[in-house]
Amino acid sequence: MNNSIELLEEWQERLFLHSWRIALRENCKPDDMSMRDVCGCADWTEESKIARIDIVDPECIKERIVEFDFEKTLVHELLHLKFSLLSDNAEDLQARYVHQLIDEMARALVDAKRKGEKDA
Ligand SMILES: [Zn+2]
Repeated sequence: MNNSIELLEEWQERLFLHSWRIALRENCKPDDMSMRDVCGCADWTEESKIARIDIVDPECIKERIVEFDFEKTLVHELLHLKFSLLSDNAEDLQARYVHQLIDEMARALVDAKRKGEKDA
C-alpha cells in the first residue's frame, strides 16, 4: 500500500500538477481545518502555486454516508488546485458547480486507476 506522500507525488504527476509545491497534512482534527464538516480542504496561492492540503482524521468523521477514502479525498483536493483559476467564493454558483464536477472527476479517476491495477 502506498503511503500518502507517494500518493501525492503520483497524483501530482497524473494530473500535471508538478509545478505546485504542496504541503500535505493528514489526520487533521476538524477544528484545525479551514472548512467545517469536510473530508479534506485545500488552501492555495494561485500565482505562486503553493498549496496546503489538509485531510481529516477518519476517526472524526465516522457517521458520513459514504465511507472515507483517503485517495479520493486527496485527488479531489488536488483537482481544486487544477481548477483554482475558476473557483473563488464558495458561495458562488460557479464555484459550487466546479466543486461538484471535481468530486465526480476524483471518483472517476481513482476508480479508473484501481480498475486498471486490478486488470493488469
Ligand atoms: Zn471540494
